[in-house]
Amino acid sequence: MEQILQKYYGFQEFRIGQRALIEYATQGQSSLGILPTGGGKSICYQVSGIALGGLTLVISPLISLMKDQVDALTAAGIKAAYLNSQQKAAESRAVEAGLLNGEYRFLYVAPERFEQNHFRNLLARLDIRLIAFDEAHCISKWGHDFRPSYRQVVGQVMHFGAPCMAVTATATVDVRNDIQTLLHIPDHYVVETSIKRENLAFNVDPTFQKDKMVRRYIKEHIQDSGIIYVSTRKQVEALGEQFSDYGIKHTIYHAGLPADTREQNQSDFVNDNCPVMIATNAFGMGIDKSNVRYVIHYNLPQDLESYYQEAGRAGRDGLPSECILLFSEQDIRLQQFFIGNTADESIQEKKKEKLEKMVQYTKTTQCLQGTLINYFNPAEHLEPCGRCTNCLKEADYDMTTEAKKLLSCLLRMKTAVSKSVLTKVIRGENFPHHDYSHLSTFGLMKEYESKDIHGFIDTLLFNGYVDEYEGKLSAHESAKDILFDEVKLMTHYHPVRYNERVTIHTL
Ligand code: ADP
Ligand code: ZN
Repeated sequence: MEQILQKYYGFQEFRIGQRALIEYATQGQSSLGILPTGGGKSICYQVSGIALGGLTLVISPLISLMKDQVDALTAAGIKAAYLNSQQKAAESRAVEAGLLNGEYRFLYVAPERFEQNHFRNLLARLDIRLIAFDEAHCISKWGHDFRPSYRQVVGQVMHFGAPCMAVTATATVDVRNDIQTLLHIPDHYVVETSIKRENLAFNVDPTFQKDKMVRRYIKEHIQDSGIIYVSTRKQVEALGEQFSDYGIKHTIYHAGLPADTREQNQSDFVNDNCPVMIATNAFGMGIDKSNVRYVIHYNLPQDLESYYQEAGRAGRDGLPSECILLFSEQDIRLQQFFIGNTADESIQEKKKEKLEKMVQYTKTTQCLQGTLINYFNPAEHLEPCGRCTNCLKEADYDMTTEAKKLLSCLLRMKTAVSKSVLTKVIRGENFPHHDYSHLSTFGLMKEYESKDIHGFIDTLLFNGYVDEYEGKLSAHESAKDILFDEVKLMTHYHPVRYNERVTIHTL
């Protein structure tokens, strides 16, 4: 294995996680690899494929990436080819002939190919020894980028009897379980390295002046390359025009542009002819540009998977880089609107939950990196990163009293309730069908606005004093540390009380 790595890639040793995945594949075991972006996932299935001989089938939803990888393999002296819908008929016929002659070691294909009978018949005649699923989260219904055709492929390739290797950088527990079940991968064959990126500084900025902030930031980082993600094509165009007015050099990308324009703009950015890219989330999958110094999200993304994947395009060279999220309440409404258009009800529910987590990320007072990593892997213990907005801010509001009130209210309610029910009760609002007014904690915090109570509950959640399960809150055992005055709870969150505001009015 080391020899293959040295001979074809010129690297001395495997990175963390790579060796195990390769060992499983060469032992004929299917596996799942969750490795960070830039962690070297392609080498895992490529070295395995070379070691196994025969043909490795690589299923990838990214046409742009296929060509790059095939070129790189070919340059390293390994015969590889791809089949996709953008190819001329003559070209794909030549590839098919080569496959039947056993000329290739790697074949890259898009999942849609499997819908063709012709292609499935071809596969049945080949000596397939490994099946790699790149960007494997696209297989899962719970993934942020679900492709139904990708899921269907699974049923069609399992009977080849070759081991599978699924790799991805973003897998929540649900996605992971789904992939494992689908590909019959026991826990033991899941390789997960921390997706933590030490060089990224996460930043949340709830500014009302997004345009101004972005322009100022670019001016201050004029030498650097960066991506600005916005939600819609229209906004891409509008921001681009604004940049032109201000003389800021930039290029744009969205799915509505003609293919040649997209390609040109992308290469201008990748080749450093143009430092700033304004784009929708159509941009970036499979793009290999290592010196992106910042990624600014002009709008709130739909979930943390999308956010981490897009923000993670910064700093692939390992140098310090910034990931900035700007957001407004309007962004939340736009995402809710998108979710409302989802046909499948169970997926819609899931998306709502994910959006909720995304919104929590903008409000948390905890380390942002920690919040992101724990979203994917709740078990990973993390020290505060010391680089994000929250780590750099001082937690100077003592919310122990509010925490005590909320926790005792929750305990008195004797059943798990939602955030909004707890908020209503503690603010002294009653329900038509349920009378809570007998509780001693009823209306205990009526001087606060709902959004402030929500802020406190979020802090309790992120500090683990309260658990949330299926939208219902319950107090965690550690809540007694607060109730019995054993710990204090500090936060950055500064609530506004009504009585304070009244004082301001009378002044
Ligand atoms: P991913 O698909 O996980 O985002 P890639 O497979 O594109 O990552 O690898 C990212 C970079 O790391 C590539 O430039 C690759 O050559 C390099 N790389 C991968 N494995 C190693 C290794 N063992 N030693 C040194 N560099 C490596
Ligand atoms: Zn931090």
